[in-house]
Amino acid sequence: MINEKLLEEISFSEDGLLPCIVQDNNTNEVLMMAYMNKEALKKTYETGYTWFWSRKRQKLWQKGESSGNEQKVVSLQLDCDKDTLLAKVLQTGPACHTGEPTCFYNTLKESDLDKSYISIIPKLSKIVEERLTSKQSGSYTVKLVEKGENQVLKKLGEEATELVMACKESDKQEIKYEAADLMFHMILSLKYFEVDINEVLQELTNRNQSR
Ligand code: AMP
Ligand code: ZN
Ligand code: ZN
Ligand code: ZN
Repeated sequence: MINEKLLEEISFSEDGLLPCIVQDNNTNEVLMMAYMNKEALKKTYETGYTWFWSRKRQKLWQKGESSGNEQKVVSLQLDCDKDTLLAKVLQTGPACHTGEPTCFYNTLKESDLDKSYISIIPKLSKIVEERLTSKQSGSYTVKLVEKGENQVLKKLGEEATELVMACKESDKQEIKYEAADLMFHMILSLKYFEVDINEVLQELTNRNQSR
């Protein structure tokens, strides 16, 4: 049940709305912002999927009700003055109704300060999954997977060997390309054998913590 006491403390706007920021729990990407009223918050809390109040359509909607791109709630957090909600979710498909993965694709300004590219790994994993479930024709990934287990593993082995060769030749440019190839094929193999990449990352994290 909903924490009634905290619910009473929430500062809804004059028109009864609470802005909700939705964040992808795997990639940490900010996916969208939408409004909840008390009812939407209650439904979100009770069903474990996000519900919002549409100001345009003047109705409650479950995210993904028509697109299927629903959001399973991992956590719900209120900010300091309890007037904004942060929902961390497991997103199915793209979050934006335009088909973009996130609503925040209109870049107003971008500097070169962001040197952290690590989040491409869970993102790529998700893209691979989408390609495979949609069986997108023309996709290299789909074609490879359709050739079967042996071809998927052959590529994995080849890319590992190519990385070794590039290292032997101390060719930095080649090392970069081959490491990227290997990472891609590792992500694909994990998907193929249905091992969640997050479990691999968790294993790495655990090993690191026990040192
Ligand atoms: P969906 O919830 O994905 O089935 O989409 C249903 C409708 O909700 C869409 O046609 C949009 O009007 C609206 N909608 C869905 N996703 C978003 C979003 N990320 N931001 C704003 N409106 C959305
Ligand atoms: Zn606030
Ligand atoms: Zn959008
Ligand atoms: Zn290669």
